[in-house]
Amino acid sequence: MAPNVDPYNREITYLRVSVTDRCNLRCIYCTPVKDLKLFDHADILNYEEILKVIRVATEVGIKKVRLTGGEPLIRRNFVHFVESLCRMPRIEDLSITTNGVLLKKMAGPLFEAGVRRINVSLDTLNPLKYTKITRRECFDAVWNGLQIAEAVGFSPIKVNVVVIRGLNDNELLRFADLSVRKPYQVRFIEYMPIGRDGDWTPEKYVSSDEMKSKLKTFGPLRKIPRPTHGGPAERYRFESAKGEIGFISPLSHHFCPSCNRLRLTADGKLRPCLFADDEVDIKTPLRNGCSHEDLRVLFQEAIARKPREHHAETLEKGECLRLMSTIGG
Ligand code: SAM
Repeated sequence: MAPNVDPYNREITYLRVSVTDRCNLRCIYCTPVKDLKLFDHADILNYEEILKVIRVATEVGIKKVRLTGGEPLIRRNFVHFVESLCRMPRIEDLSITTNGVLLKKMAGPLFEAGVRRINVSLDTLNPLKYTKITRRECFDAVWNGLQIAEAVGFSPIKVNVVVIRGLNDNELLRFADLSVRKPYQVRFIEYMPIGRDGDWTPEKYVSSDEMKSKLKTFGPLRKIPRPTHGGPAERYRFESAKGEIGFISPLSHHFCPSCNRLRLTADGKLRPCLFADDEVDIKTPLRNGCSHEDLRVLFQEAIARKPREHHAETLEKGECLRLMSTIGG
């Protein structure tokens, strides 16, 4: 069996890397302001270590890497790190997930470094609500950052919207309109019960089917066929739209059977499934001088430990409390 095939015959080709647990926003559903415990700097993998891990990952079969966080753009010397990554053989696809606050000044350097694909998280188009959700007054910075990213040539630009009832579910049509006017792939993401005990409730959850039926009032939706190795988003386009909309439905339509990913946490753990606390420690062996071959074995162990499917709907209290910012959402 190929080293990157898991027990359920899924080929694992995608690694999401959280480069830091720090973030310049404090989103109400993602980052607590009280008792926020951050890792000591010494506990976070340094760039050299991350590059080493990714190099091994590519030898095991990883072809696609996404940098995330925390907020990846706030980590010092990030562009330099990205340049090194862009030079690494066997990576066919490198992308970044960012809140976009620093994109205005960093879009150009990141594009020059070789990145072409970027996801920007933006849960509202209303500046005041943006401040309420993120606890920071940064809407204009993100909006300007998006325009700069577009101008320097990033494509596709994906705009990720986590839909939460009572918070931003009344903005679906505004986002639909954005997808018509701008060449962005607006992706509506189901709110997941992860990260903070007590914040997610079934009432706040909006299924993608419900979102879709609301969006149909905006206009007819044309389905875009999913490429064979495409991501989990179900994609659509409104008539004569410059962009697209998509739905990511981790709860209502599990995409576990086609899951191809592993996550590397900011503190050096390989996480086989977003919704399971099982992790393979890679930092300790790495810092104890383990061999390249040992790292490969650890990777294969993480692949072997991927569960058949997640059980996010039935998580017990106390499970899955690791913050998204440390896992790399
Ligand atoms: N700072 C970057 C950003 O904002 O995109 C990367 C890290 S952030 C944790 C990644 C994504 O996870 C964001 O789009 C955020 O909205 C999403 N996220 C956080 N908690 C979530 C939850 N409970 N359900 C769904 N998405 C969540």
